[in-house]
Amino acid sequence: MIATLIKKVLRIGPRGAVPKLKHYPAETHGLHPESISACAMRVVKTLQGGGFKAYIVGGAVRDLLAGREPKDFDVATDATPEQVRRLIRRSRIIGRRFQIVHAICHDEVVEVTTFRGENREDANQQTDEHGRLTRDNVFGSMEEDAARRDFTVNALYYDPVRNEVLDYFNGVADLRARRLTMIGDPAQRYREDPVRMLRAVRFSAKLGFEMDASTRAPIHNMADLLLNVPESRLFDEILKLLLSGHAHACVGRLRAEGLHHDLLPLLDLILDQPQGERFIRQSLENTDRRILEDKPVSPGFLFATLLWHPVLDDWKRRMAAGEKSMPALFSAMGETLEAQRKKLAIPRRYDAVMKEIWGLQPRFEQRSGQRPFRLLEHPRFRAAYDFMLLRADSGELPEEIADWWTDFQQVPPEEREAMLVEEERPKRSRRRRR
Ligand code: ATP
Ligand code: MG
Repeated sequence: MIATLIKKVLRIGPRGAVPKLKHYPAETHGLHPESISACAMRVVKTLQGGGFKAYIVGGAVRDLLAGREPKDFDVATDATPEQVRRLIRRSRIIGRRFQIVHAICHDEVVEVTTFRGENREDANQQTDEHGRLTRDNVFGSMEEDAARRDFTVNALYYDPVRNEVLDYFNGVADLRARRLTMIGDPAQRYREDPVRMLRAVRFSAKLGFEMDASTRAPIHNMADLLLNVPESRLFDEILKLLLSGHAHACVGRLRAEGLHHDLLPLLDLILDQPQGERFIRQSLENTDRRILEDKPVSPGFLFATLLWHPVLDDWKRRMAAGEKSMPALFSAMGETLEAQRKKLAIPRRYDAVMKEIWGLQPRFEQRSGQRPFRLLEHPRFRAAYDFMLLRADSGELPEEIADWWTDFQQVPPEEREAMLVEEERPKRSRRRRR
């Protein structure tokens, strides 16, 4: 009671930070309402029209202010999920632990979140019989909502109707200084959610920002906390990192922060493959390039590259021991996937794609008869071909084979027959000539 009063008098926010709300009017922030998607704009206008507060928040505001195209738009409001649901016709409530509303336009979904407060002892929390939180819909004020976000640049609120940015924690200043700063006490925030350490690395690499010294300092000593994070959440976060368009930079920074050994098996795999290092580096750079060019990237393809060298080693070992090529490759694939399963937590749903990409690799070395034509028709040809190019780039396969396949696709179909490789052709040509 007294503590609350003191806080009120001193205006000390949750976590002890002292939020000073700054308003940035139109001429000072450089954002334009047109850069907001039509769907997000409609959601904001509908909620404001219903008498509620509504702002674009989080990554979209950060990315726009940093001159980047946002991935998607999130809206924060003081309306409860039920109130949002009632105001926005095509919308549905999702989530159990913390309910959010998906507002649906024809090709876009905007996530609408009610301002969240701190989890206090008196909070409206429910757990199931195992103690797992099933509901902690702790709504809060806008100020509390800002305070529970991770970095200052992620806690900016943009009102596209008034065209102003609201900033409680100096996020605009940090953005201009290209600095990533944790809100509140960084060590405490990492303890609450160790995944924030990975987010710190991802955002600093993606935005090209330096971490503020106090945000960076605790990471080294707190890295072990990642061991307590459920595997599936870690997997999701590493996937975000690998698909951020800055995977190569992220991996370098994770190494610099001491955030990989024994904590993130997927990364140990990336960083500890002396033979495959060049291959993986090229694969990550290739992934980054594709994402920046807005081309699709499949996680299955990426995992296939990460696991290729273990597969290759086992394949070669089996062939040296006298096994036939294809059966040896299939055994090596199965064994590698099984061996990595427990450690890496790559979900089984990616197995089929990885196996297809790997299983097609020997077929690129067969360039006679009907086989190249059949390979070209294979539904997974494109991915397998891209994979083969990476192998050639890293010196594992002769460049000449890669170039041949590139030409083979590009020449007019009637010229393909003439490209079939001479020394592999005689058997068939002789038969035809007779
Ligand atoms: P992007 O979507 O580009 O990866 P983002 O900042 O939008 O970046 P999201 O994971 O979509 O990241 O989260 C949206 C917002 O929710 C963040 O900007 C941040 O304010 C808040 N947030 C997300 N995860 C956390 C977390 N672990 N701790 C605190 N706040 C978080
Ligand atoms: Mg986002």
